Amino acid sequence: MRLLDQFYIDGAFVAPHGTDTFDVINPTTEQVIAIVTLADTEDTQRAVAAANRAQPAFARTTKAERIAMLTRLHAAILARADALRDATIEEYGAPVSRAAWIANFSAQSFLDAAQVLESYGFTRQMGSSIVTMESVGVAALITPWNSSAGSICSKLAMAIAAGCASVIKPSEMSALQNQIVMEAIHDAGLPAGVANVVTGRGDIVGGELSTNPNVAKISFTGSTTVGQIIQRAATATMKRVSLALSGKSPTLILDDADLSQAVPLALNAAFMNNGQACIAGSRLIVPEGHLAEVIEIVKAVVAQMKVGEPSDPATVIGPLASRAQFSRVQNYIQLGLQQGATLIAGGEGRPEGLETGYFVKPTVFANVRNDMAVAREEIFGPVLSILTYRSEAEAIEIANDTIYGLQAYVHSTSVEHAKVVATQLQAGRVLINCLQHDPLAPFGGFKQSGIGREYGVLGLESYLEAKTLIGA
Ligand code: NAD
Repeated sequence: MRLLDQFYIDGAFVAPHGTDTFDVINPTTEQVIAIVTLADTEDTQRAVAAANRAQPAFARTTKAERIAMLTRLHAAILARADALRDATIEEYGAPVSRAAWIANFSAQSFLDAAQVLESYGFTRQMGSSIVTMESVGVAALITPWNSSAGSICSKLAMAIAAGCASVIKPSEMSALQNQIVMEAIHDAGLPAGVANVVTGRGDIVGGELSTNPNVAKISFTGSTTVGQIIQRAATATMKRVSLALSGKSPTLILDDADLSQAVPLALNAAFMNNGQACIAGSRLIVPEGHLAEVIEIVKAVVAQMKVGEPSDPATVIGPLASRAQFSRVQNYIQLGLQQGATLIAGGEGRPEGLETGYFVKPTVFANVRNDMAVAREEIFGPVLSILTYRSEAEAIEIANDTIYGLQAYVHSTSVEHAKVVATQLQAGRVLINCLQHDPLAPFGGFKQSGIGREYGVLGLESYLEAKTLIGA
């Protein structure tokens, strides 16, 4: 049992003022593995004050100085990649391959930001004026539990590239990862107050950050519901708000797709990160005439997917992150059955032989209508809904018939054909015949999946303000 009772404020580890605690539970064993002390409003205000003191000098640092900081942060996280991987398995239940990927992604995000910064022109001529892009000010970085270190590091990297001092509010469910990230930040030797970390409850720490007048910008990743609360709260002080929110992403299998490649990729898109991914391809839209063949491949692939101990390299799906997540997913499986979807894999309850741990069966429904709850709502677990279409126009209509628009996947043997469909999809990213991330290209949502973009030049500019000099 570990006691985690330190925050990182003003370049030092400090004891909390807050006294509430939270039990971190290993989702594989259901045992309490750590107790974390939670920040209160006063802790949060101390962190904002430290960032606010650091901000003027930090905004004046040169590109070279910031690139050096990003390089040191990369090295500090990389040195802890194994520890980060193990913490992600232990407190979150990610399969080891995924946990290792997130640890490396976390480190790499600092080099990616350095690359964007290196080639970015902060001053340009527009009309007869000179326009300079300036740091927006103190940034609050609020992150979820489902990709904790990855979200923290990619946001911190861009904030540093832009010259914004920050206050990071990670999820309390990720306390082990938070501790490792704080230690890496400390080792990287940033100027005091440039990066502060306070772990605490969303309504308390996040609430203070959303209203504190010394916070200029909020970069939030999490649910659409909380994004709406933050957006409302931030209006009073006109904070710049970037929101990376929920999704219900479609995978479109076009008539000319190679099903033997497309269906396994579609299942990976649906079940990645134990199905707890904002970009999960949770609706599979297939030609009516190919449904029987799709179902056959789905059954064969799912039968081979090992659910179990996340540290076992053979495991594809580990436990869900919490008991609440387990119950939520069970409720959706029941809803799918009640509303008349056909179960073709998985179903209610735990997989055989896994009586302890928040394990669920990878579940696939066919004959789903797009008005059923399993097709409309973000389940955030390994549950896939298969819908059918008769014409490509209908496939596009079904794909776009959602309040979300984060990501979409298109499969076709013709990339040109897939591109024609991709241009008609309402999604911030469309992946064609692949499952990958591009750290230099924008990422973010259409519709209720978010506001603004992260990564690449657009990600950097979300932390900048344009200033026009006329007559200069
Ligand atoms: P969440 O919205 O419950 O919490 C996210 C963060 O916001 C946490 O740190 C939480 O403590 C904080 N928070 C909660 N209430 C708050 C409030 N009133 N004010 C300020 N902050 C508050 O999300 P979650 O359950 O941690 O994560 C899962 C959700 O995140 C899913 O909906 C998923 O789709 C989404 N997500 C989106 C992306 C993306 O890039 N679009 C990436 C990962 C996760």
